[in-house]
Order: sequence, then C-alpha cells, then structure tokens
Amino acid sequence: MESRDLCEIVVLSKYDVIIPFICYQCGNCCRKYFPHIFKDQLPEISRILNKSLEEIETLLADHFDAYNSGAPKDCCFLDTKSNKCLIQEIKPESCRLFPVYSDFGSGNVDCRGYKELRNVTCLFLEKRKIAAVYKSCHYKLEMRNIPSTEWSKILSKLAKAEVSPLFVQRFLKANKIKVA
Ligand code: SF4
Ligand code: SF4
Repeated sequence: MESRDLCEIVVLSKYDVIIPFICYQCGNCCRKYFPHIFKDQLPEISRILNKSLEEIETLLADHFDAYNSGAPKDCCFLDTKSNKCLIQEIKPESCRLFPVYSDFGSGNVDCRGYKELRNVTCLFLEKRKIAAVYKSCHYKLEMRNIPSTEWSKILSKLAKAEVSPLFVQRFLKANKIKVA
C-alpha cells in the first residue's frame, strides 16, 4: 500500500480543522476488502498480471464468493509478503480512497489510520455538527484558519486522543500551527 493524502475537514463555528488520514501500510484493508473493479479494467489487469481474462474472472469470482460467505480472504491482487498491490498502476478507486471517502467495509477492517481519524474527528465535533464534515479535500473550500489564540486549546484536545507522533506532526502542518 502506498500512503494516501486524504483528510477530513471539520467545520466549527469560527474556524475549520483539517484532520489528516495516515495510512500505516499494514495491508489489513486488502485482507478483508473486496475491491470494486469494473469490467473494462479486466483486460488491463490481465496484461499486468500476465494471466488470461478467464483466470482473472475466476480469481475475482472466488474472492467475491468468500467475501459474501462471511469469511473474506486476502484480496486476490495482494502480494501478502510485501503488502503491495499487484495492480498498483490501475488501483481501483475504492481502494485508493479507502477509508476516508469510500467508507466501504471500513467498519470490518482493523485500520489504525481510520480509528485515529474517527477518534480525532469526534474530539472536535459537537453532536449537532456531524453534517458539517466535508469528506473531500477536493473541495475548494475557503478555509478559515485556526486563530493563534485557539492553538493551545486545540493542542490540549489533541493530547487527549491516542494518536501517533506522526499524526501530530501532520496535523500541525495541515493546520499551519507553529509550535515554539
Ligand atoms: S488498513 Fe488502514 S492503515 Fe492499514 S494499509 Fe489499509 S488504509 Fe493503511
Ligand atoms: S486491489 Fe490492490 S489495493 Fe485494492 S484491496 Fe486488492 S490489493 Fe488492496
């Protein structure tokens, strides 16, 4: 898995908070996940993997059956030793956007990045503001930056969350917070 530059934006009354998503590249999402693959991608997959179309269709059908039976297997396109996607060059959109935008199956996946993001999002959200979460950093929002008078409150909130030092680093950078 390569790292993904995804985020959520929580809109508060006076400013907006960017909450980054960090992929820790554990590969768990490729272990219980059924990728959304379109039929017109099959010839390209067949070329990349040097397998016939029929072989690819059989792989996907077996994977789909296992997924539906409630005993999902590792994705048939995962290199289980390296955690790399074998079809990286045409990686399906649902995989590239997992879990921030797609949310598909994320409840079943032990994803450290997803837990961290949810955990921190909840810290900043008041109950009634859930609808104000924008799930796309493609939105060209006029961001209202966090005023420097709020930084200490924001940082003490963040300290209560169980997040990695890397998360804190990305959070500060994304929100343009400079710590002396
Ligand atoms: S489960 Fe989460 S942290 Fe692990 S590779 Fe997938 S997106 Fe990254
Ligand atoms: S297609 Fe690639 S990224 Fe998507 S679940 Fe399979 S191995 Fe993971």
